[in-house]
Amino acid sequence: VTRGAGSGLAGGANALDGCIVVSLESMNDILAIDPEAQTARVQAGVVNKVLDTAARAHGLFYAPDPGSRDFSTIGGNIATNAGGMCCAKYGVTRDHLLQVRVVTGEGDVVTFGRGTTKDVVGLDLMCLVAGSEGTLGVIVEATLRLLPIRPQLVTVAASFPTTAAACRSVTAFRRLGVATAMELMDHTTVRAVNGLARMGLDESGALILAQFDGPDGADLATRYRDFAAAAGGEAFVTDDSGEGASMMEARRLAYPALESLGSTLLDDVCVPVPAIPELVAAIEEIAATAGLLIGTFGHAGDGNLHPTVVFDAADDDARARAHQAFKLIVERALALGGTMTGEHGVGSLKAPLIDTQLGPVEQTLMRRVKAAFDPEGILNPGRGF
Ligand SMILES: Cc1cc2nc3c(=O)[nH]c(=O)nc-3n(C[C@H](O)[C@H](O)[C@H](O)COP(=O)(O)OP(=O)(O)OC[C@H]3O[C@@H](n4cnc5c(N)ncnc54)[C@H](O)[C@@H]3O)c2cc1C
Repeated sequence: VTRGAGSGLAGGANALDGCIVVSLESMNDILAIDPEAQTARVQAGVVNKVLDTAARAHGLFYAPDPGSRDFSTIGGNIATNAGGMCCAKYGVTRDHLLQVRVVTGEGDVVTFGRGTTKDVVGLDLMCLVAGSEGTLGVIVEATLRLLPIRPQLVTVAASFPTTAAACRSVTAFRRLGVATAMELMDHTTVRAVNGLARMGLDESGALILAQFDGPDGADLATRYRDFAAAAGGEAFVTDDSGEGASMMEARRLAYPALESLGSTLLDDVCVPVPAIPELVAAIEEIAATAGLLIGTFGHAGDGNLHPTVVFDAADDDARARAHQAFKLIVERALALGGTMTGEHGVGSLKAPLIDTQLGPVEQTLMRRVKAAFDPEGILNPGRGF
C-alpha cells in the first residue's frame, strides 16, 4: 500500500492485513524548476504547497489546489487525480501532468509521457496512472506544468435565501463567464462553521464563495454580485488578497466544522453542473426522510459536492440510517448522470458501491489493465475496482 501524506478521504492509503506500507514522505526533493519551459520535476513526496511556493519564486504557480494542499503530496495528488477550488477554471491534477515515473508491480521503473504539449504515440499510460489510487504502480517522480502567476484575485461572498437559489446562481452565471472558484456552503454547513470558528457568517441561508482572476476578473465579480442581489441574496466583494483568503478559509473549515458535530460520512459526488440544483434538492429530501443532519458543501463550480452525513455512531439505528442516506445520495447522483466520486477516489470507502456505477465489461477491462501493470496483484490489493 503506497502512502503519501495519508490525507486521502477514501481510506486508500490505510494499511491492509498482511501488507507492507510504502511511505513516499521522505522522497521530497524538488529536482528542477525550469522557468523557460514552465515546468517542475519533483519527487513524489513533495508537498503541493511547497511546490507552489517554490514556483512563485520564479513568477509561476502550481494550479491544482486541494483543500489539503498544505500537507498532501504530489504523488498522492496524482494517484487520486486531486481536484480543488480552482479546478472549475484550471482543471484537475491530470491536466497539469506532463510526465510520471512509476515502479510497476513487477519492479520495472518506467516513465510515461513525453513532457511535450502534444504526443499521440501509443496508448496514454500517463493519464491512466492519474487517479489509479496506487493500484498500477508506485509514483516516484513527476514533471508538472506551471503557469504564470495570475493577476490579483477578486473574491465574492454571496449569501442566498436557499441552497437551491445559490446553486441556480452557479449554473446561470456560467453563461456570463468562468469563475476560478465557486464554493458552496449550505445553511447547515454555515451554521457549523460559525459554531466552530465564530466567523459571523450570514446564517439566513446558503453561501457561495466565488473567486475571479484574469483581466475580466473584477468585472465578472461585480456581475456575480449583481446576479446574487437579483436572486434575493447579498454579496460582499473584495480585491484584497488577505481578506479574500480569510473568506475562503470559511470553506476550508466546512468539513472540520461538521466533524465537530458527530461522526460523519463524507461523500464526494459529482454531477453535470446544470444538475446541481436537483442534486441538492434530493439531498435535502434524503436528510428529511432519514431524520439526519446532512451538511452540503463543495466545488459547485464544477458540480462536485461533499454532502456530509452527521450521526451518532453509538446509536445503531442512526448509523444504519446514515449509511443508507450515504448510499441514496450516490444513487441520486448517478441517476443525474454523475459519478460516485469526483476527486477523493474509490479507496475502501466506495469499493462496496462500485457495481452501481461500473458495468461488468468496464470492470473486466480495468482488471486486465491492472494485471498488465501488476500481475501478482501486490499493489493496493482489493482497492479501487
Ligand atoms: C482537510 C482536507 C481537505 C481536502 N481537500 C481536498 C480537495 O479539495 N480536493 C481533493 O481532491 N482532495 C482533497 N482532500 C483529500 C486528499 O488530501 C487528496 O486525496 C490528496 O490527493 C491525497 O494526497 P496524500 O499525499 O495525502 O495521499 P494519501 O492519502 O497518502 O494516498 C491517497 C491514495 O493515493 C495513493 N498514493 C499516494 N501516494 C502515492 C504514490 N506516490 N504512488 C502511487 N500511489 C500513491 C494511496 O495508495 C491512496 O490510494 C482533502 C483532505 C483533507 C484532509
